[in-house]
Amino acid sequence: MLASADASLTPIAGGTDLLVSWHHVDRNGQCFLDLSRLDELRPFRLTDDTLELGALTTYWDVIRSADVTRAFPLLAQAARLVGAIQIQTRGTWAGNIANGSPAADGVPAMMAYDATVVLRSRDGTTEVPLDRYYTGYKQTVRRPDQLITAIRLPRRPRDVEWFEKVGARNAQAIAKLGVAVVRDPLGWRIAAHSVAPYVCRCRTLEQALNAGRSFASPADVLAALRPDISPIDDIRSTATYRERVLSRILYYRLAE
Ligand SMILES: Cc1cc2nc3c(=O)[nH]c(=O)nc-3n(C[C@H](O)[C@H](O)[C@H](O)COP(=O)(O)OP(=O)(O)OC[C@H]3O[C@@H](n4cnc5c(N)ncnc54)[C@H](O)[C@@H]3O)c2cc1C
Repeated sequence: MLASADASLTPIAGGTDLLVSWHHVDRNGQCFLDLSRLDELRPFRLTDDTLELGALTTYWDVIRSADVTRAFPLLAQAARLVGAIQIQTRGTWAGNIANGSPAADGVPAMMAYDATVVLRSRDGTTEVPLDRYYTGYKQTVRRPDQLITAIRLPRRPRDVEWFEKVGARNAQAIAKLGVAVVRDPLGWRIAAHSVAPYVCRCRTLEQALNAGRSFASPADVLAALRPDISPIDDIRSTATYRERVLSRILYYRLAE
């Protein structure tokens, strides 16, 4: 937990996001808290009910674990698409969440698995559903005195789970768009990235699928996506490309 509520105290985990902007941001008066030696944040625990990723769990930790890969295949799939091995061995799942990028590759998989974020401060511990963690572009519910200490993913039987990332190339490319889809006893969860100010659930489409609706065309899927996404044009893609490709991926994969 962060003893100081001072907003200038910045936790640093793998540093793979923070160091990219190191030379561009005015860090005058900013203090950094190195988490990397806090062993209690490091381990992950897989039980019959839950996977708990300590805040220092890296992508590589997941890739290397046959048990986690078997229990949560989308985590391993997303992890393999993050940067290259150097980034996978340093970058953390908690850092991916905390950084708040709408293009974060780890977040859709965790969100589709119904993850919660454990936040701890001197005042105590709270657990926030990941799909309620973001409030705007790079805005989150985390208070400056709270540290993410863990991410919890419930272990449930699933009959559908897949993840697609579309980028300029497979490795070392920020997503133009992507989507993780899971169906478990609680219903469908569809989490998309790079199509809104933050990684978002496509709840209208989920509700339609939960109600047993089928879709006649990608345009039909797009109509059900529109209430929840708001893609933009940027250096990586256009809003039109993003919504067209997302609706096509979903249409063809859901039809399988
Ligand atoms: C070359 C390169 C390629 C990359 N490729 C990808 C990619 O393909 N896909 C992708 O999604 N990302 C990519 N990234 C971004 C980055 O690697 C990931 O977002 C990574 O998960 C960040 O984790 P970190 O531990 O390095 O975070 P850090 O850089 O240490 O921190 C990131 C942010 O999270 C905060 N933070 C970290 N831990 C905590 C905590 N426990 N509690 C509260 N706040 C915390 C920090 O204060 C900071 O604001 C890439 C980065 C680089 C440099």
